[in-house]
Amino acid sequence: MTKPALLWFRRDLRIDDHPALLAAAVDGRPVLGVFVLDPVLLGSSGHPRVRFMHACLAALDESLGGRLLVLRGDPSTLIPRLAAQVGAAEVHISADYMPYGRRRDAAVQAALGDVELVRTGSPYAVAPGRVRKADGTGYAVYTPFLRAWSEHGYRGPAGSGAAVSWVDGANVEMPQRISLTDLAVRVAGHWPAAGEAAAKAGWKQFRDNGLAGYQLDRDRPDHEGTSRLSPYLKWGCIHPRTLLADLKQRSSAGAVTFRQELAWREFYADLVFQHPGSVRRSINPQVDELEWDSGAAADQHFAAWQEGRTGYPYIDAAMRQLLTEGWMHNRARMGVASFLIKDLHLPWQRGAAHFMDHLIDGDVASNSHGWQWAAGAGPQAAPFFRVFQPVTQGHRHDPAGDYVRRYVPELAGIPGAAVHTPWDLPTGPPNNYPPPIIDHATERVEALRRWGQRRKDG
Ligand code: FAD
Repeated sequence: MTKPALLWFRRDLRIDDHPALLAAAVDGRPVLGVFVLDPVLLGSSGHPRVRFMHACLAALDESLGGRLLVLRGDPSTLIPRLAAQVGAAEVHISADYMPYGRRRDAAVQAALGDVELVRTGSPYAVAPGRVRKADGTGYAVYTPFLRAWSEHGYRGPAGSGAAVSWVDGANVEMPQRISLTDLAVRVAGHWPAAGEAAAKAGWKQFRDNGLAGYQLDRDRPDHEGTSRLSPYLKWGCIHPRTLLADLKQRSSAGAVTFRQELAWREFYADLVFQHPGSVRRSINPQVDELEWDSGAAADQHFAAWQEGRTGYPYIDAAMRQLLTEGWMHNRARMGVASFLIKDLHLPWQRGAAHFMDHLIDGDVASNSHGWQWAAGAGPQAAPFFRVFQPVTQGHRHDPAGDYVRRYVPELAGIPGAAVHTPWDLPTGPPNNYPPPIIDHATERVEALRRWGQRRKDG
């Protein structure tokens, strides 16, 4: 009898356009699909993201005809044990390029002994580490990276895995088995539907209706102007290569811009591959050495920011969107990050950790470098002295105030753009909406003073 191959799913929860699956199933070989709930990763993942992942696993299990095996425990123990138990010829994976994933896979590989760990493909169109300058070093700046990434090119989509012959995970005796029905797979009302079919439907809907206007609409949190594909890309319910192949047929400004946004995701993954420590520390060390606020007053400011009670309506709308939907618009992410760092004088790492606790698309590379961009801490960052004005941001990106009214019910009765400055109403802010916790003009000057001081100190 042909020995089965193991396909260890991680951030690739789909069956189409899945090169590692096709490699596992070569010549009609039967495949056992397994996912390991790793306590190390679960411990550092926010509840919303874990629940969304559970729902993606349930959708994947359906695609496998209910034959997915889910285990809980340390992959470096469980994967070799499972491979031995079913007599697996090989273990197949999509390569992981993040710091923990690389360490984990090296440990699994060592523990597998003679059974080969075969890496095919990755969560990216071009694997981190491939786009390099002539001297072999990586890029620190996005625009030349984009040029080189485009020149490097990427493969077309792999075929469908619909015809794979799956081994039934239910017949495998492992005490660490978890029943998918025991996991809380129900996705809350405000979250998107999970899984590969939902990802494809979301892409089709955006491609046919949103892409043409994307270049302008993507800066408007009050519009549904972006794809909202980030949670699916995070869990690999769809691969960026699938999207890029579709974009090839299109030359509109929206299509060009969308492709460039996908390249940001690839750029940030490449930066983390080059600088694994940058998931926690600023690439520009001067930023971590700045004078940051701490203590009880700082904690109160942080709590007000987390809960959307800063008294700045645009900031509060964004923070409440995060709590409600597990997602926040990119423009708003930039605005709230600037506010935390430059108005509240709190280190970007605190904000990044809060994002990772609540985002269903929380991704260590895009998140830590999105934050470093806002902090002026990365190699490709806005300079520290560029400070966003929270009211101007509101007027620019939510001109009629619809975004604020949607997420801040206390202000829902204020018409038009006046919602951005409720303190100017003759009766003051309604419904106990708080006054601003800080004065932006004062704190901007203070942020620049601290920055100037740090630079003077060398
Ligand atoms: P679209 O505008 O439709 O873009 C399509 C895809 O391109 C996105 O799904 C994403 O994969 C990629 N993309 C777009 N913009 C960026 C960007 N600036 N950086 C990297 N990739 C991008 N994105 C995450 O996926 N996970 C995170 O944890 C994350 N944290 C962030 C934190 C901060 C402080 C900032 C400023 C940005 C962060 N981003 C993160 C990037 C960006 O905000 C989201 O990818 C985007 O809002 C997702 O919405 P969308 O799918 O509708 O995007």
